[in-house]
Amino acid sequence: MENQQQLDQNSSTTLTGPENLEMSAAAASATDGAAAAALRSVLQRVHQAAERCGRPSDRIRVVAVSKTKPVPLLRQVYDAGHRCFGENYVQEVIQKSPQLPEDIEWHFIGNLQSNKVKPLLTGVPNLAVVETVDDEKIANHLDRAVGNIGRKPLRVFVQVNTSGEESKSGVEPAACLELVKHITVSCPNLVFSGLMTIGMPDYTSTPENFKTLANCRAEVCKELGLKEEQCELSMGMSGDFELAIEMGSTNVRIGSTIFGAREYSKK
Ligand SMILES: *Cc1c(COP(=O)(O)O)cnc(C)c1O
Repeated sequence: MENQQQLDQNSSTTLTGPENLEMSAAAASATDGAAAAALRSVLQRVHQAAERCGRPSDRIRVVAVSKTKPVPLLRQVYDAGHRCFGENYVQEVIQKSPQLPEDIEWHFIGNLQSNKVKPLLTGVPNLAVVETVDDEKIANHLDRAVGNIGRKPLRVFVQVNTSGEESKSGVEPAACLELVKHITVSCPNLVFSGLMTIGMPDYTSTPENFKTLANCRAEVCKELGLKEEQCELSMGMSGDFELAIEMGSTNVRIGSTIFGAREYSKK
């Protein structure tokens, strides 16, 4: 319920009809920078992908992945009306979030270590979702820290390793249900809200990866008596978000297509 409302709120500020998109793009092109224009183009492509498969586009959240990008660039995308941003590194999001408005919904999408849980939660009071819970230990740490800090319950996604690459985080698909069960039964300060995966870097097996995530959702919903709307699918990045939408994604994480290529050398 809360989940759906937040989706609604988020999308009403980020997605508009094609007419509005055209108008605002024309009106803004004179003053806006490249990132704002790129955001608009991404939102339009999301809208079109949703239409192609008969899904309402206000059910698809765009997380603007801003890792390694400077605050003024995030501000540009914020000023273009976007409110949902994703970051991978605790230190980085702790530095950036106080320099930006509080109505941003931050998604943490990086590998989270236990000793970084408290700094993340205290440093980012408007943290909306941690998308990368992949074992009971980190779930327990998050649960305890949320309780200790006294913030509102934290929405979490369980990250699933659908490609079988050893370098990748995430639970095995076969272990997904157990972890979700643990969160719903033993972590009262966490709200289980969905599943997340990262497709293959070369996109070769991405359709199978996305299918695997959807299968995990079917199992979780059946076994735990959840409705599909209570279990989002976070899948799709710059190179595969349209495919992901066609395969049921409710949360696409888009970085370089909005902000430009990342420059890791600066870090
Ligand atoms: C960096 C990152 C993204 C965004 O990747 P792009 O290909 O630049 O869109 C999405 N999800 C995760 C988990 C990431 O680390």
